[in-house]
Amino acid sequence: MTFALHGIAVSSGIAIGHAHLLSHTSLEVLHYNLPPQLIHEEVARFDVALQATRQEFISLRANRPQHAAVEFDAFLELHLMILEDPLLSVAPREMITRERCNAEWALKTQTEILVAQFDEFEDAYLRERQLDVKQVAVRLLKQLLGQPGHQPAPARHDVEMILVAHDLSPADLIQFKPQQYAAFITDLGGATSHTAIVARSLNTPCVVGLHHARELIREDDLLILDGEQGVLIVNPDKAILAEYKLRQSAWELDRKKLKRLRGARANTLDGSVIELHANIEKPDDLSEVKEHGATGIGLFRSEFLFLNRDVLPDEEEQFLAYKAVAEGMDGQPVTIRTFDLGADKQIKGAERVANNPALGLRAIRLCLAEPQLFRTQLRALLRATHYGNVKILVPMLSGAAEINQTLQFIEATKQALDAENIPYDKDVKIGGMIEIPAAALALTVFAKKLDFLSIGTNDLIQYTLAIDRTDEEVAHLYDPLHPAVLHLLAHVISTANKFGVPISVCGEMAGELAYTRLFLGLGLRQFSMSPAQVPAIKQRVLTSSLGDLGLLTQKILRADDPLKIRELLDKLNA
Ligand code: PEP
Ligand code: MG
Repeated sequence: MTFALHGIAVSSGIAIGHAHLLSHTSLEVLHYNLPPQLIHEEVARFDVALQATRQEFISLRANRPQHAAVEFDAFLELHLMILEDPLLSVAPREMITRERCNAEWALKTQTEILVAQFDEFEDAYLRERQLDVKQVAVRLLKQLLGQPGHQPAPARHDVEMILVAHDLSPADLIQFKPQQYAAFITDLGGATSHTAIVARSLNTPCVVGLHHARELIREDDLLILDGEQGVLIVNPDKAILAEYKLRQSAWELDRKKLKRLRGARANTLDGSVIELHANIEKPDDLSEVKEHGATGIGLFRSEFLFLNRDVLPDEEEQFLAYKAVAEGMDGQPVTIRTFDLGADKQIKGAERVANNPALGLRAIRLCLAEPQLFRTQLRALLRATHYGNVKILVPMLSGAAEINQTLQFIEATKQALDAENIPYDKDVKIGGMIEIPAAALALTVFAKKLDFLSIGTNDLIQYTLAIDRTDEEVAHLYDPLHPAVLHLLAHVISTANKFGVPISVCGEMAGELAYTRLFLGLGLRQFSMSPAQVPAIKQRVLTSSLGDLGLLTQKILRADDPLKIRELLDKLNA
């Protein structure tokens, strides 16, 4: 049956491929106790479910499709082996008897023990097998709950696969190689969540906030994903498929044409030079940066070096990563942001539980609370300044006290390096992100104390409008054109320009064509975005004339009716 779902478009492109379902990784079950006379029955219920799961695997092996990849057999064998592990097949029975608990609870508890054992493995491949453990446990759980599972096929290499998940964390996504999946779709998530940002940096179409996609889609279903419109079509008929194949070719052709602008300078029609920089998460992203013709790194989200790790990177490892980026950019600017950990980016094993993580110990707050972590990063960063045009950017500053404290940390680190005769750029520029409304409103102190500023619109909008950027339930309220947001942006850009402090925008708004002329009209001359967005934004700059923008931009700032604002913006973009 063909049906369509609508979500939030977060990374453009059209993908056609087969669904690969990612199992729910959490086993959410009830816990209850049983009277002694029912224990025997409960153990028997577990045994029946275990046998049924075993049988499921055996019949899958017997009915293996002829064209199935060789991985299919290996995958079945592995899952059968996991099922027979005493911790899954024996320990839950013992626990039911010993603790008089329900079978689901015993299974969940023993699975967690087994997963923890896999987590201990040094070998990354073995460690990753914990996902298989969870998949087998979910299958067994479904038997217990009377909802036998449908076999998730191993990722195939002969067709394009689209990953379908209830939720994906940025840490999940960063592990995939570019082009490993043709697209990603999730039930949860918002347009500027870090998951969405990573999908864009992998240059992979992605739609989030689809609500029930994971439930409605079956393994191997044929999917069409339109990452521009946020539309997902499940099991399309031939006519729809043909239409989207045409659209896909047209889209790819457009991208190829845009890439021809790679070497061109981003000048406006009236000759102003606009800098288009790139946002990256890892040193590997440099190839994308070069391919799309960005002239610098406007934001290196260094915290991604910390995700999915059991052992945190030490000074040397960090130094080598920063140095690689500095050298790789051949003297072009490289802005490295100090860790923005916390909220949706947590260090493995040190996850903090906070009532409002986005308002909690995040970014510079966490760094100032963990001086050792911060000092190590600052040493690595300062050492890397010797090898290129490196600047240091500090996230989530809210006012003078934090700026002073941060600058003192940097000064003390410089002195320590001096004492050890370690070279670094004595004139390294220190900048601050403007992403808290308080910072935008009290900008003067930032302009006086810091060398450059960068507006993080993702958080600035989140905090101005009190909308969790990762929550799809309130995604419709996330409005970059809200007059409050526009006024803050206008104020920050004009104040920075008045003080002669370089200002850029590195939030997702910077990579959206709809806002390029608006920013130019507000006086912005430097943008930073996902590498793949650079060519289209460059084309827009090349066809814009600053002289034409001022009047309409002022009208937009004076308007307070959302429809009027949209209408004026359309005129600006016409
Ligand atoms: C922002 O908040 O706009 C930003 C660029 O930082 P991040 O998305 O990493 O929070
Ligand atoms: Mg931010």
